[in-house]
Amino acid sequence: MRDSKQLEAFAVFVVELGLEYVFGITGHPVIELAMEMQTAGLQYLGFRNEQAACYAAQAYGYLTRKPGVVLCVSGPGLLHVVGGMANAQVNCWPVLVIGGSCPQDHEGIGGFQEWPQVESSRPYCKYAARPPSAALIPVHVEKAVRLATYGRPGAAYLDMPATILTQRVAGKKVAKILRCPPPPLIYPQPQLIEQAVNILANAKKPLIIVGKGAAYARAEKGVQDLVYSTNLPFLPTPMGKGVVPDTDEHCVSSARTLALQQSDVVLLLGARLNWMLHFGQPPRYQKNVKVIQVDLCAEEMHNSLQAAVAIQADIGPVVHQMSQAFKNRKFNFSQTSSWWKELRAKAEKNKQAVGAMAQVTSLPLNYYTVFKSIEDLIPNDSIICSEGANTMDIGRTMLFNRLPRHRLDAGTFGTMGVGPGFAIAAALYCKDNYPKKRVICVEGDSAFGFSGMEVETMFRYKLPIIIIIINNNGIYSGLDKETMRQIQDAGEATQVTPTRSLTVETHYEKIMEMFGKKGHFCSTIPELEKAVKSALKETDSPSIINTMIDPLADRKTQSFNWLTESKL
Ligand code: ADP
Ligand code: MG
Repeated sequence: MRDSKQLEAFAVFVVELGLEYVFGITGHPVIELAMEMQTAGLQYLGFRNEQAACYAAQAYGYLTRKPGVVLCVSGPGLLHVVGGMANAQVNCWPVLVIGGSCPQDHEGIGGFQEWPQVESSRPYCKYAARPPSAALIPVHVEKAVRLATYGRPGAAYLDMPATILTQRVAGKKVAKILRCPPPPLIYPQPQLIEQAVNILANAKKPLIIVGKGAAYARAEKGVQDLVYSTNLPFLPTPMGKGVVPDTDEHCVSSARTLALQQSDVVLLLGARLNWMLHFGQPPRYQKNVKVIQVDLCAEEMHNSLQAAVAIQADIGPVVHQMSQAFKNRKFNFSQTSSWWKELRAKAEKNKQAVGAMAQVTSLPLNYYTVFKSIEDLIPNDSIICSEGANTMDIGRTMLFNRLPRHRLDAGTFGTMGVGPGFAIAAALYCKDNYPKKRVICVEGDSAFGFSGMEVETMFRYKLPIIIIIINNNGIYSGLDKETMRQIQDAGEATQVTPTRSLTVETHYEKIMEMFGKKGHFCSTIPELEKAVKSALKETDSPSIINTMIDPLADRKTQSFNWLTESKL
């Protein structure tokens, strides 16, 4: 028999650290632990694949700054989680994974689901360890939570062999429960603020880039104050959207290429100069662009480009001090400057081009018309989860975020399969804090396939997530019905271009029928509008709106083919 007292202590301990949710799939050897966690007051959510559980846990960590816990079984269970850990680590989001593992006395001789789990997790984690004895579990749990949340957040893994989970320890021998206070706030060096403000005040074409680090930092008030009081243009990264509302007049997303390419000074707030920001290099930036980098991670400084000023600090105090310094100088970047005029002219031109595409209602539909219709119907404060290639990229420009941390997408790692898990975490967060707020999960048809079975999880926990599938029968683009039929009749399906390989007009909405509900299949704008309105009335069940678009629909022409650019 297992010593449930021991497990109970473990579970109570996790609760005392302030963690609330456990996402996972239970099985040997963590069944009792899962039960004890529930008894101790943690809310346990059972998923259909551990990877999606890990996506949910990290999104919960991003939304709340408290790591979600992932509980998984040994071997394959942990290996399914690994993709999730990597995503958390690359996105800098906190998550704590607890994996059961094979009993130590079966190790090396072919134990059930035996696998080197600590070694396997290490490249994907800030901390990966196996507590050497049950008595030391509290020390390691506290350390794992601390490492996941302090400094640059990330993943932590704790390995729990069945032998440790069943070990008996006298109460007095169990290590004392340590508290893990919130991470310390790092203040900037005053002279660096002064330097940064000087450079910005003398810039001809200044630009603020707001990244998801600013969202994680809860720095929205300070960033807004800085933007509004200085009148500087800003550009959000995908998940930096909403820190300052996309609809604000200082937002230059519609002139993104021009803003990046011509700016002479960039204030980088919680964003890395990685592929997403084109490494800060020509041809996407000026050769001599001066970057003022603000990041709490010292190792991130000067990455890809030598920063003019490198401020290692929390964004909140930095933007507060900068705003003060600008106010003292009575600085205000002129509305009538040639920079603002250029940006506004370009933004206006792009808005008109997109607006025209969004008017076209001929069938099959295009992305822009579909997204315009969705944007017009969903509440302004919705949390939007999104993945897919064109679906995510075009959706990002058409679906506005007015609030911080209201967009969750494929992120820095470009991961497909994250949508349903992220949406579940967002829906739990809304249920606990903003019961009327809606979660809209906008998925490409290919992206949806990765974790589609989590609809059952949503249904089980009565989460009213609205899943909108933008269905083009493929990856990037698909085939129409007639062409696909001819190919299949000729027995040549394996010859179809790999990207256009999905079944034509798959009725994903019929998944709802497994739960006695009806999904929505739409090919026209009136059908889509009706479906979205009806889904918004659901309060305790997910909805699926499967929207067919032109299999060859594409993005508007881009000036740069970003992925094929090379630094060499
Ligand atoms: P994006 O995808 O929006 O470009 P990244 O994930 O590349 O953003 O970068 C986010 C950056 O924010 C990371 O380098 C991380 O270290 C940093 N960061 C996270 N929290 C804070 C904070 N509180 N203050 C400053 N920087 C932060
Ligand atoms: Mg597709």
